[in-house]
Amino acid sequence: MDAGTIDMKVLEEVCKVSYRALERAKGEVKPGARLLDVAVSLEDYIRGEGYGLAFPVNISLNSEAAHYTPSYDDEKVFGEDVVKIDLGAEKEGVLGDCAATIDLSGKNGDLTEASKLALDNAIASIKAGVEIGSIGAEIERTISSSGFNPIMNLGGHGIGVNDLHSEPFIPNYDNGDGTLLEEGMVIAIEPFATTGIGSVVSGSVQEIFSFAGEALFRSLDARKLYGEVKSHYPHNPFALRWVAGLFGSKFSLYAAVNELLRAGAIVPHPVLVESSSGVVSQHEATVVVEKGGCRVLTA
Ligand code: MN
Ligand code: MN
Repeated sequence: MDAGTIDMKVLEEVCKVSYRALERAKGEVKPGARLLDVAVSLEDYIRGEGYGLAFPVNISLNSEAAHYTPSYDDEKVFGEDVVKIDLGAEKEGVLGDCAATIDLSGKNGDLTEASKLALDNAIASIKAGVEIGSIGAEIERTISSSGFNPIMNLGGHGIGVNDLHSEPFIPNYDNGDGTLLEEGMVIAIEPFATTGIGSVVSGSVQEIFSFAGEALFRSLDARKLYGEVKSHYPHNPFALRWVAGLFGSKFSLYAAVNELLRAGAIVPHPVLVESSSGVVSQHEATVVVEKGGCRVLTA
């Protein structure tokens, strides 16, 4: 997706608000704080500024790489964790996407620095005419020379209107993709570094879903959930805690979710966990490709 179809002024706004929310997270993520309180606080901040959410605030710990968001009754608190905050604001279908790692363990500074440096080096290498594979090579080289592994089956992506993961895919290693970056492309770069083997698998926790298509339901709860999702979250992912208030009990919420899943009306975005339980760090920025470089919008 290129800047020709994205309103650049709106993109600059949503990216700026996304970055400000990410900066706030750094003050709120501390030992003893509840993940749920931080997620709600960051989402409230973005909404309070007059924006929507591109996706639920992700707060993934340690070997979780992505896609954890607290449930409505989540009691989890931060301890000595490696914390990834990934978030984005939305306006008129225009999306921001950025992430950072906060090391509360005090033992994973090098790991955290590796994904940060990989992002900085990738950004420094981006300009129109550069091969996509060479960005991956830069990320891989930086993370490997820091003594860690890049996560091979996660990567950056183009960002389109109401389309968080559009073409092209930006790998975290040299995948040989000779496609050239073009001036005006809007892309998210997101290196993941790990102490593990460098891949993720889906875990069992599912709190983030997307609308996937039309269906008909008999049960009242399923119809309620379907109507809510279709009218409020037809394009971008939503968290179950955003809709939990409509249901009388946890049982009725999850029963409705299961009915929608079975009918193919929604798809899950399960937590992604490092395959060998390695600790994971991540940094992400949204940039626009320019002739002689790129401009970081989430800054
Ligand atoms: Mn992200
Ligand atoms: Mn992303």
